[in-house]
Amino acid sequence: MPYVPVIGLEIHAQLKTATKIFCGCKTDFGAAANTQTCPVCLGLPGALPVLNRHAVDLAIRAGLALECTVHETSIFARKNYFYPDSPKGYQISQYERPLATGGRLQLSSGAVIGITRIHMEEDAGKSLHHGFADSDRHTRIDLNRSGTPLIEIVSEPDVRSAADAADYFSRMRDILVAIGVNDGNMEEGSLRCDANVSLRPNADAPFGTRTEIKNVNSFKYLEQAIEFEMARQAEVLDAGGTIHQETRLFDNATGRTESMRTKEDAHDYRYFPEPDLRPLVVSAAWIETERQAMPELPEARTARFVAAFGLSEYDAKQLVYVIPGGADYLELAVNAGGSAKANTNWILGEVRRKLKDAGREDMSACAVTPGALAELTHLTERDVISSTVAKDVFEKMWATGRGAKAIVEAEGLAQVGDTDALGAAVAEVLAANPDAVTQYRAGKTNAFGFLVGQAMKSMKGKANPKVINELLKAALDRL
Ligand code: ADP
Ligand code: MG
Ligand code: ZN
Repeated sequence: MPYVPVIGLEIHAQLKTATKIFCGCKTDFGAAANTQTCPVCLGLPGALPVLNRHAVDLAIRAGLALECTVHETSIFARKNYFYPDSPKGYQISQYERPLATGGRLQLSSGAVIGITRIHMEEDAGKSLHHGFADSDRHTRIDLNRSGTPLIEIVSEPDVRSAADAADYFSRMRDILVAIGVNDGNMEEGSLRCDANVSLRPNADAPFGTRTEIKNVNSFKYLEQAIEFEMARQAEVLDAGGTIHQETRLFDNATGRTESMRTKEDAHDYRYFPEPDLRPLVVSAAWIETERQAMPELPEARTARFVAAFGLSEYDAKQLVYVIPGGADYLELAVNAGGSAKANTNWILGEVRRKLKDAGREDMSACAVTPGALAELTHLTERDVISSTVAKDVFEKMWATGRGAKAIVEAEGLAQVGDTDALGAAVAEVLAANPDAVTQYRAGKTNAFGFLVGQAMKSMKGKANPKVINELLKAALDRL
C-alpha cells in the first residue's frame, strides 16, 4: 500500500561564541576532558547563570535570516529530566515564550518550509562509552560541552520527502554559516538534526503518528535515515500494526534506525520558568543592530552574481552553495580586476579539477591566489596567450606559485600578434603548399584549416590564431 510521508525537522545549531551561554568557560572543541568547566556548567548547587550577550546577538540574527518574528520578551525555562551527562537534572531552554517564531526557509525546488520557532538553550555534556581500559565496566563523563550555547530551530511538518529534508538541512547550514551564527562543522557536532517522520494514506488524510530520529549529523545520513524509517513504518502499517510515538537512533553502519526510548510528552518535562534568570528583553534597537550586521544571504548573493556579473544561475549556485569558499574567491578575483565570467570558468573548470586531484573541494586548498588567477585571465582576454598556453601557464602557477605574467615572459610564451611577423609566416606557408592552395580555390574548405595549422606550426603555436586566420584569408583572396 502506498503512503505519503510527513516530515518535520528540529535542528540544533551551536552558536559561534567564544564562551558558554551562562558562564565564561571556553567552547573550544577537542580540549582535554573537563578542562573547560566551572561551578555553573558543572551544575553545582548555588552557582548562578549569567546570560552571554553575544549568544543572543547570534540567535537574533538566525531569527532574522529565517524571516521570523523576534520577540521583545522571551523566557528561559527548566526542562527537567535525568541524564548522566546533565548534572543539574534539568536543561535551561525556552519553552512557552521562545525568542523567535513564524519564519520560513525556501528549498532548492522553490518549496517553502515553515519555521515554527527558534529558541535558545544550553547543550549537555558527553558520555564517553569507549576507548578506556575499563570501558567494559565504566562510562565516563566529559562536561566541556555542558553549557555550550545552542539554538533549536523547529520546522513545521511541511517537508514531504527524504531528499527535501536533506536539502532543508543543507540550506539551513549554508544560511547559518553565511551569517556567522554556526561554524558548519558537522563532524564535530556543531549542527545536528532530528527528523520527525510519519506516514498517511494520502495527502488529504490526517497526520499519522510520528517517530523521531535523533541527532543525525550529515545530509546523506539524514536522507538514508528517513528513507529507512518510511519503509519501516510502511511495513508495520501494511501488516495491520500501529506506529508508536518513540525516539529512534540512526546507525550509520547498518543504515537502520533502532528504537531508543518511548517518546516523552512535553508535560513529562515539568517545564517551569527558570528562577535564576530574568526574562530576556530584546529592544527594537538591538534587533536593528543585528539586521544591519547581517551579511548577504546565499540566495541574495546568487541573485547578485547573476544580475551584476552576468553569470548563469547554475554557475552562481555552484560558487555560492557547492564549492566552499567559491563565492568569496570569485569576489576577490573580480576586485583584483578580473572578469567575473572568465574567472568563474576557471574556478569551475581547471581549479576544481586540481582541487579534486588533491582530494579537496574547498577553495582554501587552491594554490593560485584570486589576484593571480585574475592576472592569468587578463592575458587570455587580451590575446597575449592562447587558451591552450593558459592551461600550461596555470599548471606552472599552481606548482611554483609564480605569477602568470612572469611565467609568460620568462618562457617566451606570449602570442605573436604582430602582423608583419605573421604575414611573413603566412606567405611562406602559401609558397610551400601550392597543392593546398589549389584545393582551397577549388572550394575545399578543409584545405584552409590545413594551411592555418601549418602557419601555427611554423610559429611554434605562439601565433594568435585569429590574426593568422585573417591574414591567410586576405592573402588567398589576393592570389
Ligand atoms: P518535541 O519536543 O516533541 O520533539 P517539537 O514541537 O519540538 O516537539 O517538535 C515537533 C516536530 O515534529 C516539529 O518539527 C513538527 O513539525 C514535527 N511534527 C509534528 N507532528 C508531526 C507528524 N505527525 N509527522 C511528522 N512530523 C511531525
Ligand atoms: Mg524534539
Ligand atoms: Zn562554566
